[in-house]
Amino acid sequence: MTELRLGIDVGGTKILGVVLDPTDPREPVAVRRSSTPANFDDVVDALRDVIELLRADASQRGDTVSSIGIGVPGVVDRDGVLRGAPNLLSAVDAPLRDRVEQAVGSPVLIENDANCALWAEAELGAGRGASDIVMVALGTGIGGAVMVDGRLRVGAHGFAGEPGHLVVSRDGVLCPCGRRGCWERYASGAGLAWLAQQAVGPAGERSGANRIVELAGGDPLAIRGEHVTTAADEGDDIARAVFEEFARWVAVGIGSLMNILDPDLVIIGGGLIDHSRHYLERVRDLLPAEVLGAGAHRPIPIAAASLGPMAGAIGAALLAATPHRLR
Ligand SMILES: [Zn+2]
Repeated sequence: MTELRLGIDVGGTKILGVVLDPTDPREPVAVRRSSTPANFDDVVDALRDVIELLRADASQRGDTVSSIGIGVPGVVDRDGVLRGAPNLLSAVDAPLRDRVEQAVGSPVLIENDANCALWAEAELGAGRGASDIVMVALGTGIGGAVMVDGRLRVGAHGFAGEPGHLVVSRDGVLCPCGRRGCWERYASGAGLAWLAQQAVGPAGERSGANRIVELAGGDPLAIRGEHVTTAADEGDDIARAVFEEFARWVAVGIGSLMNILDPDLVIIGGGLIDHSRHYLERVRDLLPAEVLGAGAHRPIPIAAASLGPMAGAIGAALLAATPHRLR
């Protein structure tokens, strides 16, 4: 009988659960998916159901689940209380760990989803061999995580590693967090859409033969990040110019993080890493101008996340078995 590790990644729309064999953790031995309900009680029920299904999968193999980790898209304090998760219900001060532990009858680790993804990359993916890592996940917003001396830096209250809300423009675009000019308003999928709206003009006056506006159904205000990536894939000039601007914003934020933390590796993940051909080389070109002492880095180490969409769930499973690596 093998002691398996269970990990779950709770996304804004779906829940992904895996069970890993610690001797070969890259390939989950069981995978279960569910949708993410809208209110907190239903989220707890959905998590209980996924955990019970995965436990049944484990016992069918003659194995048992020895640890459970859950990654969530929000700030989690050291008591497993979800203090805020803009894209996951309107949960404020939700005692997620206690509720799930009661529901499933065993200890559960709750951690920020980007922290989980970084842990997986550090153990099994792009971050192997590095001990000081900054990860930025470019998705709808920007998630982030920081590893210092081989440990995840969660901060005094558990809230560290939110580079998406680094303010890069004090009077800039309004952010769902309530402030203006957060980095994720410019260097994420939402940022890509905003940059495209600026490029085509508020009324789409430059939209004549504009593929981005066409993809958005003719309405510049309906532009989303994927319209820009699709147009860029097709070779559209405006989309390429938008990605040039996007690369500048990505470089500004990563450069600031490097100036503070001097990591030996920066990992870029999130959904936009699938479109890295449109911006990653440009970010590498632009970065030296943003980093103090850049010449000494030679070259500035910046890598694409390599574990794909399972990274969060795999990292949650691994972290629950090694919680002492959090600090
Ligand atoms: Zn913000």
